[in-house]
Amino acid sequence: MMAWKTLDQMEIAGKKVLTRVDINVPVEDGTVTDTTRIDRIVPTIEAIKAKGGIPILLAHFGRPKGKVVPEMSLRITLPALEEAFGQTVKFADGNYADAVAQLETGDILLLENVRFAPGEEKNDPEFAARLATLGDVYCNDAFSAAHRAHASTEALAKLLPACAGRLMAEELGALEAALGSPNRPVGAVVGGAKVSTKLDLLNNLVEKLDVLIIGGGMANTFLLAKGASLGGSLVEADLTDTAREIMAKAKTTGCRIILPVDGLVAREFKEGAAAEVIALNADTTLEADQMVLDAGPESVHAVLAEFSGLKTLIWNGPLGAFEIPPFDTATVAAAKIAAELTADKRLVSVAGGGDTVAALNQADAADGFTYISTAGGAFLEWMEGKTLPGVAALDQQ
Ligand code: AMP
Repeated sequence: MMAWKTLDQMEIAGKKVLTRVDINVPVEDGTVTDTTRIDRIVPTIEAIKAKGGIPILLAHFGRPKGKVVPEMSLRITLPALEEAFGQTVKFADGNYADAVAQLETGDILLLENVRFAPGEEKNDPEFAARLATLGDVYCNDAFSAAHRAHASTEALAKLLPACAGRLMAEELGALEAALGSPNRPVGAVVGGAKVSTKLDLLNNLVEKLDVLIIGGGMANTFLLAKGASLGGSLVEADLTDTAREIMAKAKTTGCRIILPVDGLVAREFKEGAAAEVIALNADTTLEADQMVLDAGPESVHAVLAEFSGLKTLIWNGPLGAFEIPPFDTATVAAAKIAAELTADKRLVSVAGGGDTVAALNQADAADGFTYISTAGGAFLEWMEGKTLPGVAALDQQ
């Protein structure tokens, strides 16, 4: 149960609002090359200003590891911030108390990279207390940093009246709708390269879902566990017991696991490689140089049939080696259908983590999903059922 407050529930007129944001944007030759993260915090900054508050932005940039690294100064983001907010943004790289004292209603202040301070990543209470003196209210809008207990995401939240920003609230609402209290039946596509990186995810999902569709390289390991011999395919032979345990657990929780029944198989891992469709089951035996690189048409058909029975869909990871056509076929077909069902209001679809956003963009389907999380690690940890310190700290208010 989520108990955090939104910006609308806070009294912030005339107050300084320490606002934790994620503006860890890609930069090339001194220029921000992708402003997505900056664009996404605009509603929060506008809301704070509309309520008469003064936003003071707290953020990290890169991994300076507690030292001042001039190339990792947040100053570089100022032009992009000013463009997005449509106004001048003040900047303080020292003597924060003075900079804050000079603020007037209508101003926005950005503080220097919070990770320049050794206390940030240590979640140091003294550092958090110093930050707390700079504002009256704390607003966390950095869901993507909420899986880390750092001073600006965790300790600080407990020292001031705290709330979630617009983006944080939107993200938590979408995750809650997907896995917290979803409309059932609820299913997930979990694809990607390896079982080993998604063990916690699979274990949590089989407890909560009605259907788990496993695809990509990780499906190979499940097929291996069932007895298939998959030639040169990506498999994790040491994880077949784990795969069997997950399948056994799914039986006890009533979660159906759907594995591919056919695959697109090639002898070369390159664009346009000659590929054939081969049935996949416990008896499949591939030659040493044959690799399963995508789900086949029957499998796609089965996935689409599953989708049409769902009310909620979570998606993490591609169904095949989507970067290299034709091995993007299954991912693209399934993503398009998920987007169509969403457009028809038959499905709530939430996707995120790792390469997922890139895969859905390639299918031109990302815009069609109900919600796409760009939070990466935080999205996955939430889906793994873990408590996110930055969210828990807001809940304690
Ligand atoms: P992940 O980061 O775990 O979501 O994995 C994404 C990666 O898995 C992508 O780079 C895909 O190319 C790769 N992948 C998916 N299916 C396969 C497969 N059958 N064989 C090899 N790589 C795959």
